[in-house]
Amino acid sequence: MVQVKDQLNRPLRDIRISLTDQCNFRCSYCMPAEIFGVDYPFLPKEEYLSFSEIIKVVQAAEELGVEKIRLTGGEPLLRKDLPKLISELYRRTGIKDIALTTNGIFLPKYAKELKEAGLQRVNISMDALDDDVFKQMNGRSVSIKAVLKGIDAALSAGLGVKINMVVKKGANEDQILPMARYFKERGIVLRFIEFMDVGSTNGWQLSSVVSKKEIFDRINHVFPAEPVNEAYYGEVASRFRYKDGSGEFGVISSVTESFCSTCTRARLSADGRLYTCLFAAKGHDLKTILRSDASADEIKEYIISVWEHRADRYSDERTEETAKNRPKIEMSYIGG
Ligand code: SAM
Ligand code: SF4
Ligand code: SF4
Repeated sequence: MVQVKDQLNRPLRDIRISLTDQCNFRCSYCMPAEIFGVDYPFLPKEEYLSFSEIIKVVQAAEELGVEKIRLTGGEPLLRKDLPKLISELYRRTGIKDIALTTNGIFLPKYAKELKEAGLQRVNISMDALDDDVFKQMNGRSVSIKAVLKGIDAALSAGLGVKINMVVKKGANEDQILPMARYFKERGIVLRFIEFMDVGSTNGWQLSSVVSKKEIFDRINHVFPAEPVNEAYYGEVASRFRYKDGSGEFGVISSVTESFCSTCTRARLSADGRLYTCLFAAKGHDLKTILRSDASADEIKEYIISVWEHRADRYSDERTEETAKNRPKIEMSYIGG
């Protein structure tokens, strides 16, 4: 019998698992309403990986060194029985670092159940404090109050909470300081994300990006801050500490300071394709293997063969030209 290796030559530390490509929001930078309308060909539900198929992937990934799982989408809280999936992941794999990225709207309903199931942390997306700006950003006129209630519910349930804010020039850069102030006062970590050219529908232009430097300068001017050392290899956010001791914030600078050389993250789409880069044009069909009578070792071997051949460095190579002309999968499909 051939021995399957359990060490990868290049590290794979975390997997983002998309549970659905559907969403109740239409953020302009992710799912512009004019493209993602009623006629948009979302995945048929029967194409979704089942919970037991997801668990098989995670068990294989765990043996290859994966330590973290993040559940995402689309909006992952739209996936039926999500707490059940989390509880099975928690019981049937050794990975205890299970996180969720969500727009937060359904957290008042599910936060307690998610925590009891084994969820550790949530990243809640919130792009503005001002209600009008927020309504404009989410494309569905949802009030910021709904997200704030979601944040409260997550905190009351005992979940770790971080906030993600995508910054887009001309849309919400005036919200950088109010957001920093609000979350600083509450001791919650806010992470700014540079607007990225994921997919090909969000009208990305380099001129719409507010850089990490600009974000830092705006905050530092009012609330002096200093860089913090990386907490672990491959940490994606650059972290900064407020000099008055009131906590920290982060910036994810995929555009102006890329970090491909230390990228240890794979993505699994809701329909079971494995992606080695957020900006990939195509994925690897893991679902067919999962739906054959492949053994656990064969699933592992497939993941190894995909990951060992990886040569992704999209953000290192990005230009206006690649942003416009290279085919890329949509963020809501691949899982942000
Ligand atoms: N619906 C959930 C949410 O919004 O948190 C999870 C999926 S969403 C695709 C995951 C993350 O990707 C969110 O924090 C979102 O703000 C971020 N995102 C989406 N499109 C982006 C873009 N074009 N540039 C940067 N971040 C983006
Ligand atoms: Fe939905 Fe999240 Fe994309 Fe906004 S960022 S449209 S909430 S998937
Ligand atoms: Fe990783 Fe691709 Fe992002 Fe580079 S562009 S950091 S390879 S996901």
